[in-house]
Amino acid sequence: MTDKKQLRIALAGISHETNTYCQGQTPKADFYTLRGAKMLASAGQESDVGGAVDACVSQGFEPVPVLFASTQPSGTIAREAYEEFKEEILTGLTAAAPLDGCVLLLHGAGVVDGIEDLEGDLAQAVREVLGDIPITATFDLHGNATQFMADQLNGIFVCRQYPHIDLHLRAADAVAAILDMLERGVNATCHLLSLPILLPTTTTFEGVGEATLADLLDLQARTPCVDLSWFHGFPYTDVAHVGSSVVATCYPEQLEQAQVAIASFAQQLWDGREQFRARSLDAQQALAEAQQCDSFPVVIHETSDNCGGGSPGDGTHLLRAMLDAGLGNEACFAFLVDAETATQAHKAGVGSSIAIRLGGKTDQLHGEPVETTAYVKALHDGRLIMQHMFRGAPINIGPMARLVIDDMDVVVSSRRSQTFDREPFLAVGIDVHRYKYVTLKSSNHFRAGFQHLASQIVTADTPGLTTHQIEIFPRQKTKRRLWPIDSQASYP
Ligand SMILES: [Zn+2]
Repeated sequence: MTDKKQLRIALAGISHETNTYCQGQTPKADFYTLRGAKMLASAGQESDVGGAVDACVSQGFEPVPVLFASTQPSGTIAREAYEEFKEEILTGLTAAAPLDGCVLLLHGAGVVDGIEDLEGDLAQAVREVLGDIPITATFDLHGNATQFMADQLNGIFVCRQYPHIDLHLRAADAVAAILDMLERGVNATCHLLSLPILLPTTTTFEGVGEATLADLLDLQARTPCVDLSWFHGFPYTDVAHVGSSVVATCYPEQLEQAQVAIASFAQQLWDGREQFRARSLDAQQALAEAQQCDSFPVVIHETSDNCGGGSPGDGTHLLRAMLDAGLGNEACFAFLVDAETATQAHKAGVGSSIAIRLGGKTDQLHGEPVETTAYVKALHDGRLIMQHMFRGAPINIGPMARLVIDDMDVVVSSRRSQTFDREPFLAVGIDVHRYKYVTLKSSNHFRAGFQHLASQIVTADTPGLTTHQIEIFPRQKTKRRLWPIDSQASYP
């Protein structure tokens, strides 16, 4: 029996969902970093870092914090930024010796200028430094994974839920797997099957996503292996390995059954792919559908301008349609990202009226600015504590303003984020239960904070960088035919 008290487990990672269709690169300055005591202070938060720290502490291990660097989904990571973070992690791991194991906290869809597979590159470098001690990793289910990456790791633990409400639980699984390997004296290995599927963003809270996840968990319960994981994949990235994949983590004697299991699940995904096709309603169609509902509030989410997938969050297509429809005080919208307008409102102060050019400032795709007069109803510093997904973690969306435009409550933030829960509404005094139409920008994470209160959820797919219409994005890197953009796509 291994003495748990003496185990030292390093925690490190670079986590980024790279939308290669975004303009410009993501510089080092855009990342937030956690090191040392700051990383340990994530304990209690329902995040990958928090879950890993909690799992180490609860099992009597010593968590050894190295570096965690992350930022909002955005464009390709600048080479210099990645190399500096990577170097800091490798130096930190070397200095932390002796270590008994390492948990890498990753995303899976990271792309660096000149490096298509961030996670594979980082995992290989970490393996070279740490030798053959157990190295496991946690992932976002939106990762585009490679066997090369899997070959560097002894455990792959992908969050199962979308909204990702289980990141902390999967981090605990990644820690527990290391203990198991140390006790057995054998390392597990990871085996991946990649599917030529560009999966539209699919929640696991209902419908085909929920049913498919239930099937995966059932399969895992019947299969002797450490873990079965499903990467949905991230379609807004142009890399050779873009797509969905299924991964097994197993010990040598479990390999055959694990391979049968992932082959079976991969085939199920392929055979059932048409069920994942997403509806695409433009702003007017989405509003028309919402207005047919007879119980409220109806939550309308603009999936196509989701900062959580790399979009700017300042798109005006849905807002403009709502103003044109004259929804007035029946609707609230939180939030559009527009630092200029938020600053203007803070300078003018509560009770003033200001002439604004709201949103539509990042590019042409997401619409023109809305030029109008707005009343400044309330202001806030934008520092919030998340209450559903990432429960307990702080988020800073920058100075916020609650504006009233044609009797409609419209909230603006200064920093990019999707709306995860009701906190951005509550911060400026909005009780969503008092409105017929509650509007926000997010693809699925919002469901963790809204599904229980919405009478119905309507998806608006306006022109945007995270549209369901994934066929609009040019593909230069992938050599295989991909469903649903190529009718000739085939599997296996
Ligand atoms: Zn994700």
